[in-house]
Amino acid sequence: MIIGIDIGGTTTKIGLVEKGRVIARSRIATTGHAGDHAFADALAAEVRGLAERHGATVSAAGIGAPNANQYTGIIEMAPNLPWKHDVPLARMMATRLGVPATLGNDANAAALGEWRYGAGQGYNDLLIVTLGTGVGSGFIVNGRLVLGSHGNAGELGHMTLVMDGRSCTCGRKGCLEAYVSIRGLRQTYAELDGDPAVLQEEGVRCIADAAHRGDAAALQTFRHAVRWLAVGLANAVAVTGPQRIVLFGGIARNGDLLMAPLREHFQEALLNIYMGRVDLTVSALPDDDAAILGAAALTTL
Ligand SMILES: [Zn+2]
Repeated sequence: MIIGIDIGGTTTKIGLVEKGRVIARSRIATTGHAGDHAFADALAAEVRGLAERHGATVSAAGIGAPNANQYTGIIEMAPNLPWKHDVPLARMMATRLGVPATLGNDANAAALGEWRYGAGQGYNDLLIVTLGTGVGSGFIVNGRLVLGSHGNAGELGHMTLVMDGRSCTCGRKGCLEAYVSIRGLRQTYAELDGDPAVLQEEGVRCIADAAHRGDAAALQTFRHAVRWLAVGLANAVAVTGPQRIVLFGGIARNGDLLMAPLREHFQEALLNIYMGRVDLTVSALPDDDAAILGAAALTTL
């Protein structure tokens, strides 16, 4: 069996993967450890415990993490992780677990999961976009995951959409992520003078609920997000020409508020040679599974 590990800002999710299915899960906190080595110790202990409880022999470990360089196996100064230095996690985990370990960018890993086991199966040219706290993406082009010269290509979320626009977590302005992530939608709602009580709850579920109650600012928030996302996706299509785009993350699960109008605006935004030729769909995998399956699939790239 293969261990798939998805390292997030607060939680690290672990899955035991057999034949493309997650058969057991566990998790540890990403934060609160005395350092990167203490984190790796805790992670290795959890992995060993999970394997033991299920009588599994682990043959390899795949790890998805923000700012991971797939060529070097190093997490490079990730702003959302507790360690501000380079962490050679692939090597650290291989040593602790005694099996080969592969590290890759988390969005690319999720894309790989969707490609191999989800809505992307059978497509040679695919774009997978995660709409979550940030906007992650992975590009499959000509049947290969695009890694680029630094092992972390495919950052659609940080494509500039608006010149001198909103500040982004990357330090620049006007990135797609600043408009269509959870944070982006919440900012839009606040800028539209939405009801402050709605924003007391985290995430975007609260804005979606308000939209369903007829809240004008909430409806407008989704309308704006749809327009921005349509343009961002159409720009990406012009570069790599995917047959299908798969969206996942909580925001994408708003079918009526997001996906239905998005399909319409997306077709209008497309370069004419792609009109009617790019299919837009939502992931059929549970969010956690795409990331874990994809991390496990990194070991077979
Ligand atoms: Zn950015």
